[in-house]
Amino acid sequence: MPASPPSPTPGPLDVSPIPILSDNYAWRLRDNRSGAVAVVDPADAGAVIARLEREGGRLDLVLLTHHHDDHVAGALEVARRFGAPIAGAAADRHRLPPLDLALQEGDRVFLGDTSGVVIDTPGHTRGHVSFFFGDGPVLFCGDTLFSLGCGRLLEGTPEEMFGSLRKLSALPDDTLVCCGHEYTDSNARFALSVLPDNAALRERAAEVATQRASGTPTVPTRLVAERAANPFLLAPDIPSLAAFRSRKDSFR
Ligand code: ZN
Ligand code: FE
Repeated sequence: MPASPPSPTPGPLDVSPIPILSDNYAWRLRDNRSGAVAVVDPADAGAVIARLEREGGRLDLVLLTHHHDDHVAGALEVARRFGAPIAGAAADRHRLPPLDLALQEGDRVFLGDTSGVVIDTPGHTRGHVSFFFGDGPVLFCGDTLFSLGCGRLLEGTPEEMFGSLRKLSALPDDTLVCCGHEYTDSNARFALSVLPDNAALRERAAEVATQRASGTPTVPTRLVAERAANPFLLAPDIPSLAAFRSRKDSFR
């Protein structure tokens, strides 16, 4: 019997995916002590505003991982609706919605009684950032790390993606990994093609099949589970990661 998905979140932070567009997730993060609410990558303003209104109509912070439309398109409308500031990478401010908080690696973003740290995670795009909240612990990693996969190298190099994944992989075991897409099913098929004997992966692939059959999101996952089954985290060096990534690009 596969493990049930790790939600609702224990601890002071509550996190929930908001399915948007064809296969994206925006994320709602709430600090239960203060009631403060953030959203990550609210690309569909209508869907995100509807969720926030249903949950009390509060929004304190908009976080953006990278400049692609399927992550930022609704950000300005959502932020204006609730009077919330928009935070994103200073390096990409020329191609992000207008930023109230322009962030660099190591900066903190504050949400009620908690805060998250900004981690530079280039590879998918040059200015991609991730947000780690130690009180969850919860990670928002956009299109850098997916469950059983990683983002395409659209602007960055294998070296950059390897370094980014190394940083994320060093976070605590129980970190909830909140990524930007529901790609787990196709990622599982590719992962099994390169790691057919990985028992953790086979178990995870079966769990994913059950989750998708019932229309349940396959994310968030726990970092410890990704470390055991994600070929891009298991890649021992840059050439292996580069090889996996180029095979994945043409995998059907
Ligand atoms: Zn992207
Ligand atoms: Fe994306």
